[in-house]
Amino acid sequence: MLTRLADLIEESADQLARFETFDTGLPVTQARGQAARAAENFRYFASLVVGMHEDAFRTGDSQLGYVVRRPVGVAGLITPWNTPFMLESWKLAPALASGCSVVLKPAEWTPLSASLLPALTERAGLPGGVFNIVHGIGEVAGAALVAHPDVPRISFTGETTTGKIIMRTAADHLKGLSMELGGKSPVVVFADADLDAALDSALFGVFSLNGERCTAGSRILVEQPVYERFVERLAERAARVQVGDPALDTTEIGALVHPEHLARVREYVDIGVAEGARLVAGGDRPAGLESGNFLAATVFADVTPRMRIFQEEIFGPVVCVTPFADEAEAVRLANDTRYGLAAYVWTSDLRRGHRVAGAVEAGMVWLNSHNIRDLRTPFGGTKASGVGREGGAHSIDFYTESKIVHVALDGVRVPRFGAAQAHGGN
Ligand code: NAD
Repeated sequence: MLTRLADLIEESADQLARFETFDTGLPVTQARGQAARAAENFRYFASLVVGMHEDAFRTGDSQLGYVVRRPVGVAGLITPWNTPFMLESWKLAPALASGCSVVLKPAEWTPLSASLLPALTERAGLPGGVFNIVHGIGEVAGAALVAHPDVPRISFTGETTTGKIIMRTAADHLKGLSMELGGKSPVVVFADADLDAALDSALFGVFSLNGERCTAGSRILVEQPVYERFVERLAERAARVQVGDPALDTTEIGALVHPEHLARVREYVDIGVAEGARLVAGGDRPAGLESGNFLAATVFADVTPRMRIFQEEIFGPVVCVTPFADEAEAVRLANDTRYGLAAYVWTSDLRRGHRVAGAVEAGMVWLNSHNIRDLRTPFGGTKASGVGREGGAHSIDFYTESKIVHVALDGVRVPRFGAAQAHGGN
């Protein structure tokens, strides 16, 4: 059924991409990529469970333990508005593959692509009641799901502040939680790196998906000898990033998801200017786009760690650049936020690359490589970026309960309480 669902998603890819673009403002070329990833998620988890096996343990010759894995029950899936369909599939696929039934609560700003799921899951043959979707406001529909005593697992992706509220409510029911939260991920560029590749990756990493991306490399840390030149090249390229109608194939940054979100991102631009950061690209609407949720690709240089734009997740096409003197300072700066989702390291000194990859506080590091994910690998963050891991077997562990059955193989030797000879008494 999951494989069939993947096929059906592929067949509907054009419609899905159009819906996603219309609803979120994502450029359509990138929305097509998200639809393809959604299909891949279902295909991958379908194949993963087919290949899975359960463990057995032999304790000497006397005892055998075998593990029985069971679906945990109803899984509550709460998803954000950025790349909605792909993130929904990222949770749905392993939950269904584990044998759970699900209640999906999509983000209220972007319900459209998810509304295709009931028909798709039905056509794939899922029995009625296995897939359920409830649209609604987070504080109402989402909160009800979290507070429901018959939903033992909540997989949540969204803001750190919402994650904290959910954890508090879930504590009353001792629910299992997977929390994929915010990020402020560093891109560390050493002077000896392949600077062309680092530049391409840094630009794509923060400006693709409209900058509304949890793993966006939104703080670029550059070693001093190449700092000025790197900032210059970044600013030149950012100024040429095509912002406009998300339905056009040539658009690189579309419209931000909502006027409220645009206002929030623009407020951070004002904060950056007021804090004294050097605005080297963007900062305003691009010329000719007088209405709509548009913001030009924005680059701030000379950003210091005490500035709010260095510390807080902006979640839009805005990037901060900061110089560093040596490896120790690079690591210190990389770790100087409350978040710890992803990190990107660029250097041609592989020993240093591995050292820095080990020292940065992040759940995922890309070393001289671009943000490409293998679905088998653990996905998640440290510190305020999350609790738990999804991806591959981690997801299946989350949606299942493992039971160990112990069997004695060679007679049972039990200390015999109460079997001592009774002492005679008067
Ligand atoms: P959000 O926290 O505002 O909302 C996420 C979801 O939670 C929505 O469906 C919303 O309706 C629901 N919700 C809100 N209040 C709730 C409550 N009290 N109880 C239950 N549900 C509630 O997040 P957002 O603004 O939609 O998404 C952007 C955020 O998501 C960013 O911080 C981004 O970094 C994060 N994100 C993280 C990852 C990751 O994997 N770490 C991936 C994508 C997005």
